[in-house]
Amino acid sequence: MTVSRPIYLDNHATTRTDPRVVEAMLPFFTEEYGNAASSSHSFGTGAAAAVEAARQDVAELVGADPAGIVFTSGATEANNLALKGTLKANGGRQHLVTCVAEHPSVLDPVDRLRRDGHDVTLVGVDRCGRAAADEVINSIRPDTTLVSIMWANNEVGAINPIAEISEACRQKGVLCHSDAVQAAGRIRIDCHSQPIDLLSLSAHKLYGPKGIGALVIRRGAPRIRLQPQLDGGGHEAHLRSGTVAVPLVVGFGMACRLVRESLQSEPARMTSLTGQLWDGLQQRLDGLSLNGPSQERLPGNLNISVSGVDGDALLAGLKRIAVSSGSACTTADPEPSHVLAAMGIDDQLSRASLRFGLGRFNTPGDIDPAIEELVNVVLRLRTAIEE
Ligand code: PMP
Repeated sequence: MTVSRPIYLDNHATTRTDPRVVEAMLPFFTEEYGNAASSSHSFGTGAAAAVEAARQDVAELVGADPAGIVFTSGATEANNLALKGTLKANGGRQHLVTCVAEHPSVLDPVDRLRRDGHDVTLVGVDRCGRAAADEVINSIRPDTTLVSIMWANNEVGAINPIAEISEACRQKGVLCHSDAVQAAGRIRIDCHSQPIDLLSLSAHKLYGPKGIGALVIRRGAPRIRLQPQLDGGGHEAHLRSGTVAVPLVVGFGMACRLVRESLQSEPARMTSLTGQLWDGLQQRLDGLSLNGPSQERLPGNLNISVSGVDGDALLAGLKRIAVSSGSACTTADPEPSHVLAAMGIDDQLSRASLRFGLGRFNTPGDIDPAIEELVNVVLRLRTAIEE
C-alpha cells in the first residue's frame, strides 16, 4: 500500500528544488568539478565562468550590480555579515535600528551586538505586522550606523515600506539593510531604483538548493565598509573566504532566472490560490481570523488563527497537509510566535495559528483537499472539547 504524502503548503519554510535547477547543477558535481579559484586549468576557469554567470542571474533578479553579490551559505550568514560586518568595520559604540518582527537571524546577531556594547532600537509593528516607516525613521540618531528592516515578513506576509525607509536612510547618511528572503522571487525588488545598501537572499526559498544565499552590497560611492566574518583564502572579494560551492551557486543562479521569468504571472496566481483557500475556509468554519494584512500581502502567504481548538492538537491532527504553526522554519522553539505577539494577538490564538505558504508547485487542485482537511480536523477538535 502506498501512503500518499501530504500536500506541501509550507513554501515559506523552504521550497522544492525545481527539477530544472537540479539539472543545471548536476554537471558541476561530476564533470565540471573544478575549484573556481584554480585559474591554471580549464576545470577551474570553467567553474569560475559558471559562478560569474550565476552572479549575473542573482543580480538581475534584484536589479543589482553583479560585482556586489557575495555568495554565502544562506541568508542567516548574509544577515550576520550585514549586521556584524558593518558595525565592526566602523569601530566604537554605535546605534542600529531594527524591528521586533524580524527573523531570528537578524534579531540574534543584533542581540549579540547589543551585548558587545552597541545600542539598539527595536521598533514595533502594527496589527498587521508592518513596521511603520515614520517610527523607523524617527529612531535614527546621529550615532546610527545601520537600519535593518525585512522586506516582507516570513510569518504573516506583511510587506514593509522599504522605499520610504531606504530613501530616508540615504538622506540621513545611514546604511539600509533588508532581509529580502521571503520577498525575492515573489514580488519585484529593484535595488537600482531604491537606495538599498545591503540585501540578504536565500536560494532555498525560491526553488533553489539549500545551503546557498547571498549578501547583495551596493557598489559605488560612498563605499560600504564591511568586516568579513570568515577569514581565509580571500574568496568573494575578501568578504567571505571559503571555496565557492560551485554547484549550489549554479543552482541559485538558475533558480533566480526562473523566478524572474515567472514574476509576470506567478504573483497573481499565488494571490488567487490563497484567496480561494481563505474564502473556502471562511465559508465552512466560523471562529477564524486572518493574521497580517488583507491587502498588499506577500503572494502565497496566508496566516490564520482558529478559535476554540488547541494549537498542538490542531497541528498534530493535520495529516494531509504540510503547514507550519507560527514560524516553524525559524527555530525549534515551542514558544508562541514573537511576530503574532508583537501584533497584539493573544497567546491562545497565537498557538492555534497556521501559516500556509503556497508556491510554484501548488495547483488549484490542492486547495479543496486542504480546506476539507482543515475543516474536518477543526470540527473534530471542537466537538471533542464540547463533549
Ligand atoms: N530570513 C527570513 C525572513 C527567513 O524566512 C529565513 C528562513 N527561515 C532566513 C532569514 C534564514 O535563511 P537561511 O535558511 O538561508 O539561513
